[in-house]
Amino acid sequence: EAKRAGRGRYRLFEAGMDDLLHKRREMEIDLRRALALKQFELNYQPFLDLKSDTCIGFEALLRWTHPVKGNIPPLDFISLAEENGLIVKIGEWVLRTACREAASWPGEMIVAVNVSPLQFKADTLLETVSSALERSGLPAHRLEIEITEGALLDDTDNVLKTLIALRDIGVKISMDDFGTGYSSLSYLQKFPFNKIKIDRSFVACANADSEAILRAVAGLGTSLGMAITAEGVETADQLARIRQERCTHVQGYLTGRPMAANLVAAFLTQPPTD
Ligand code: C2E
Ligand code: MG
Ligand code: MG
Ligand code: MG
Repeated sequence: EAKRAGRGRYRLFEAGMDDLLHKRREMEIDLRRALALKQFELNYQPFLDLKSDTCIGFEALLRWTHPVKGNIPPLDFISLAEENGLIVKIGEWVLRTACREAASWPGEMIVAVNVSPLQFKADTLLETVSSALERSGLPAHRLEIEITEGALLDDTDNVLKTLIALRDIGVKISMDDFGTGYSSLSYLQKFPFNKIKIDRSFVACANADSEAILRAVAGLGTSLGMAITAEGVETADQLARIRQERCTHVQGYLTGRPMAANLVAAFLTQPPTD
């Protein structure tokens, strides 16, 4: 009896796995089509310089509108795209689109683009970036590449070589989500970062520990000559706190949500609200 029940449970588990695999396969097929069918677009979230309190750039954030399932957030499909290698093609599209759209922004406005560790592995990143800049006419100093600590873990020498080459053509490099991954302080010394983006988990919780971390990272960044962005700032209190801890930039819902590309111009001409 127990044996039969056990087998039944096993079959149930198997069915569950089947279902999961089936869903994944379906998602993968849909993802393969998404580029060709133009289901992707970029939203742009402003970041502000805290000295001048003005917007100096926007981070490009990938959006997928699935014909049936609607909006699928990047965290729900990027790891799949990384597993099957699609992220390289998608990442190329992101870089080309971001550069093209940003080229029409006024003045020295920066565009920041997230790059997956897998794009470094593909070994075509430098070429992709150079051609995106060339085709769009965007000057290299108006492009920032955001990478997470995960990108630095393996194949360190090759990643370092690519980052240095990118820096040499004038592109800026940011370390994204700092403090959440396998943070090693030696990364800050070894890699040519212009900016550290402190993960929003340290901004969100107002306890003494996260405050101390915020202060330490901001201090370290300043000493190393890097800009420090506080991510995910949602309240005026948080903004006051990150100012006090000497962060140099802010990005979060308080100062602007991600918006469609065609709303950027209006955002930049709106009068200040305070
Ligand atoms: P990220 O690069 O750290 O981007 C910031 C994320 O935080 C965005 O989520 C943004 O919408 C969200 N955010 C901004 N301000 C606030 C706030 O005040 N409160 C809260 N709760 N959230 C805020 P999103 O757009 O869902 O993107 C999630 C992640 O997906 C990104 O994190 C990035 O790692 C990845 N991603 C997005 N676009 C791309 C892309 O084009 N390529 C790659 N490789 N990854 C991407
Ligand atoms: Mg980012
Ligand atoms: Mg981030
Ligand atoms: Mg993040």
